[in-house]
Amino acid sequence: MKINFKQLNRAEIYSCIHGLGQEPYRAEQIINWIYEKHAMSFDDMTNLPLTLRAELNNIALLSNINLIKNSTSADGTEKFLFQLDDGETIESVLIPNVRGKKLYTLCISSQIGCAMGCTFCETGKLGLTRNLRTHEIIDQILAVQRYLKKTALPSDTASSPQIDSDDPGRPIANIVFMGMGEPLHNFSEVMTSLSIITDMIGFSKRKVTLSTSGVVPGIRMLPDNGPLINLAVSLNATTDRTRNAIMPVNKKYPLNTLLQTCREFPLPSNRQITFEYVLLGGVNDYKDDALRLVRLLKGIRSKINLIPFNPSGSSSEYIKPDEQKVLEFHSTLLKAGMTVIVRKSSGNDISAACGQLRAAYI
Ligand code: SF4
Repeated sequence: MKINFKQLNRAEIYSCIHGLGQEPYRAEQIINWIYEKHAMSFDDMTNLPLTLRAELNNIALLSNINLIKNSTSADGTEKFLFQLDDGETIESVLIPNVRGKKLYTLCISSQIGCAMGCTFCETGKLGLTRNLRTHEIIDQILAVQRYLKKTALPSDTASSPQIDSDDPGRPIANIVFMGMGEPLHNFSEVMTSLSIITDMIGFSKRKVTLSTSGVVPGIRMLPDNGPLINLAVSLNATTDRTRNAIMPVNKKYPLNTLLQTCREFPLPSNRQITFEYVLLGGVNDYKDDALRLVRLLKGIRSKINLIPFNPSGSSSEYIKPDEQKVLEFHSTLLKAGMTVIVRKSSGNDISAACGQLRAAYI
């Protein structure tokens, strides 16, 4: 079977190239072609000798992902539907950063569907089809980078000083594992992806976030198994009773265990754990919830993202929280000295908002 180079970390690419009797600089050239120049095949790598290209074609391949649809929301959020080699589909979402610069956050998927069954989430309703391979995670980023490069206007570079002028197609500022799936249930492929993202694609660890529904053993394993990126926990309730009802993972890893694990997490200085809290009308949006949240997060360097729920389709059993209650919840947390923002859920009109990804051809 051929080796897919997008499954390999830097050391593995070096070792493969060494095995072919080549100098280390050839490995560096190949990495540059894949992750900087977005080469689609070894034949594109014109500074490699023809004999090496032929050898690589014999033993290895470069996967690509098929973009079959993209839609743009009124707020500028873009959703990408990709088809994989086995015909399965996944989604990624590109969200413009709020501060007006032409920079984006890319939200990527780690599984096809999800087994966690959170009751407010469209992906959860699909169940799990399978884990994504490392190359399928990485190809979401490369495909969107290629798309941005193709669609970039000259003014995009001029207004974004952080973008290298030689490479106008890389305005993605942040990568978040918040698309389809529970990343910690696909641990080893996600860990290899993180190593590729922070090393060969070149994102700083501070610019990459992994969001979990609260898989405690996975959180404990993170620091020893890959680059220490940012951790986000989808919390969404302040009592085990409510959390059991909306997030079945809580029955296995209840609030106390989850939060104690967060307390013990070796956070680098100046970093916090992000707690996401989807406000579901009449379920978890009471003042008592806000007060309990303050108590629960005591001793954890944290920031809270409040996300007012977006009903999608007529089948949702939940409703939007009352605006007044959102304001009250927010101000209770602020008064208690918490770092908290109310996050507008982006891309609602194209079902790209938090918890709405279904990978459907609609
Ligand atoms: S919220 Fe996340 S973990 Fe829960 S079902 Fe949806 S994708 Fe899975």
